[in-house]
Amino acid sequence: MNFSHIPGQKAVIDRLRCSVAENRVSHALLFYGPEGSGKFAIALAFARYISCEKRTAEDACGVCPSCVKYDKLIHPDLHFVFPVIKKKSGTEVVSDTYLSQWRSMVLKSPWFSLNTWTEAMEVANEQALIPVAEAAEIIRKLSLKSFESDFKIMIIWLPEKMNAETANKLLKMIEEPPARTLFILVSEEDDRLLPTITSRCQHIRIPAISSADLSAHLVRAAGMDPARAEEIAAIANGNMVRAMELTREDDNTTVHLDRFTRLMRTGYARDIQTLVTWSEETAALGRERQKSFLSYALRMIRENFIMNFRGKENKLVYLTQPEDEFSLKFHPFINENNINALNREFNLAYAHVESNGNTKMIFLDLALKTMRLIR
Ligand SMILES: [Zn+2]
Repeated sequence: MNFSHIPGQKAVIDRLRCSVAENRVSHALLFYGPEGSGKFAIALAFARYISCEKRTAEDACGVCPSCVKYDKLIHPDLHFVFPVIKKKSGTEVVSDTYLSQWRSMVLKSPWFSLNTWTEAMEVANEQALIPVAEAAEIIRKLSLKSFESDFKIMIIWLPEKMNAETANKLLKMIEEPPARTLFILVSEEDDRLLPTITSRCQHIRIPAISSADLSAHLVRAAGMDPARAEEIAAIANGNMVRAMELTREDDNTTVHLDRFTRLMRTGYARDIQTLVTWSEETAALGRERQKSFLSYALRMIRENFIMNFRGKENKLVYLTQPEDEFSLKFHPFINENNINALNREFNLAYAHVESNGNTKMIFLDLALKTMRLIR
């Protein structure tokens, strides 16, 4: 997890980097803010930065032995504490009991909620807590000498899930930690933490990600269509966990490809009745969604034309597996005779949707013109 992988949050990240440069990192930090703001990702990137053997002013190097171990979450001086669920057998559980599930979830994506985590433990609908036994574990781990780094780092995710007994046992540790120890508490409900704990931490508020930063990240990191990214950012309201869920929910490409394939097949078959149904369905979508589909269609038309023109093995054609399967048969139908007209019609439809035209008419017109142009 690099700082550069985190959408926005520049002020917070600058402040953290600065504290390292000036050698004044507090021994206990409390990162707090809403779900999906990047608290955990920032904590992880910060821990990696502190431990890096060749960090720059900007970020960790990514190649030293410390960074390599961080990237697998197996650095011996990096410890995690998180809420866990008791097993049916009643045997005592601590974070280490679920460490392999935790690592695989975090490595898959640093954007997760308590829900994601309880599902990963495969014990959903149960209360996840940081049990008393964990306090003894924390004390034991931090009493060891650090193995490889200058710092031992303990990231406690959702410390509000500790009960008072656990918290009280930890107090002294946070108050007078062993030398070269850093606690990073990552909290979503900091008002539920004991004041005796919070008063001993330096507080760092991590606000919701701005919509502009979130949408730019979706375009850059996930290769999302800008119109769709803006739409998702608006719905997610600064919550990256929610944004990732939305991205998965509507598998953009699959839905668009299906719509595009139906238009081209029924157009070729001159099946007017199905074309009318197609245009009604498409007209019922939101305008942003319609524009996203039209951009997608323009891309497919272009890729198919190039495939036709340079041969299907050409590496300049960028298609997913299902798009490729469809295009292998379809590409001869997009050629010098219709490429310009198709481009013009789809661009025109886009402009009309944007200027609030009647979408029923726009898509019926587009479907009939496509039928004529495709043969
Ligand atoms: Zn490094």
